[in-house]
Amino acid sequence: MSEVDWGRVRADFPLLERKVHGKPLVYLDSANTAQKPAAVIEAVDAFYRRHNANVSRAVHALGTEATEAYEGARGRLARFLNVAAQDLVLCSGTTFAINLVAWSFAQPRLAAGDRILVSRMEHHANIVPWQLVAERTGAQVVPLEITPQGEIDLDALDRELARGARLLAVTHVSNVLGTINPVREICQRARRHGVFTVVDGSQAVPHQPVDVGAIGCDFYAFTGHKLCGPTGTGGLWGRREHWQSMPPFLGGGEMIREVRFEGTTFNDPPHRFEAGTPNIAGFVGLGAAVDYLSAIGMQAIARRERELLEHALARLAEVPGLRLIGNPPARAAILSFLVEGAHAHDLATLLDLEGIAVRSGHHCAHPLMQFYGVPATCRASLAFWNTEAEIDALVDGIGKVRRQLA
Ligand code: PMP
Repeated sequence: MSEVDWGRVRADFPLLERKVHGKPLVYLDSANTAQKPAAVIEAVDAFYRRHNANVSRAVHALGTEATEAYEGARGRLARFLNVAAQDLVLCSGTTFAINLVAWSFAQPRLAAGDRILVSRMEHHANIVPWQLVAERTGAQVVPLEITPQGEIDLDALDRELARGARLLAVTHVSNVLGTINPVREICQRARRHGVFTVVDGSQAVPHQPVDVGAIGCDFYAFTGHKLCGPTGTGGLWGRREHWQSMPPFLGGGEMIREVRFEGTTFNDPPHRFEAGTPNIAGFVGLGAAVDYLSAIGMQAIARRERELLEHALARLAEVPGLRLIGNPPARAAILSFLVEGAHAHDLATLLDLEGIAVRSGHHCAHPLMQFYGVPATCRASLAFWNTEAEIDALVDGIGKVRRQLA
């Protein structure tokens, strides 16, 4: 028996009640973006109705309330990840976060010939920024290979580390395969070789308890909209000594102490890296999301998603002609697959007509698609609000599509 009433939890998500093409919506695309509970929607609504003002610039009551709400969200997120709030820079999401590390931290430290190890299973957001700084500095991006099951090849990691590297970029959980990488072990090995580590936590923090400090990385990035929060929110945790040493990424208001035409002095971290007006209402919503998830409990969420994953793995194994891409032993509830005789896009389009939302495409992971020799996959990604019945609906839907295409 589960300790949480998951039926009641599901009812917290207004959008899940709607129909698509006349059918009850079956939303299996949480890895793309999560749906939002009413608590998040209401927090954003309440901010705009009652507290809206800019942060840090006004002494009036609303300005103070807005600043407290924004900084309060930073505090909630920091507690959620078990880090100090002053080491957590708020930004628009993982893409921004990794670009910030690439330009402010890595670029000044990179020289021609330096190697940046990037795992084969990264999202483009954790590949392209490294290619851009490599181009600027003469450094080299080196793929860190994976096994056919879809795990980081730890022997390859040791070989690449022994050859020398400046930085290692790795995802905590793969957005395509669901692999949960042993990031603590990986970061320990990298650290022994003096290699800096950047972990992409986008697909990890929404689905399991994450103690960022215990991972031992140098930077940890995440995105708010996969965490039941609004789009355009996210954060980057970094070691304090790194923040202190880093020049600003963007210049503007909020990030300065004093501006003179002769020269400008900068604010302390984290505000040094938060130029301009942030997505205040978005962070209020993200703070509410973290409260919501914490009230359910991330352990309970992880256990529920494990149950759903096991059901999905068992049911998909019954589908003739279905091939799962990757089969990592430690995995989150993300399943990429192909069905014989159906292009991934056709399959997703026909499933949509049944009300079933799955993603098809390369999932912003071209190098991983190249590894498996496929142009695209279909991906079903589950969350704690999904049900076994929805997984059964997916299996029935795939069966129907196969008959249509036969
Ligand atoms: N990394 C991973 C693993 C992701 O799944 C995503 C989103 N698909 C991103 C990075 C990019 O996140 P965002 O677009 O929110 O910046």
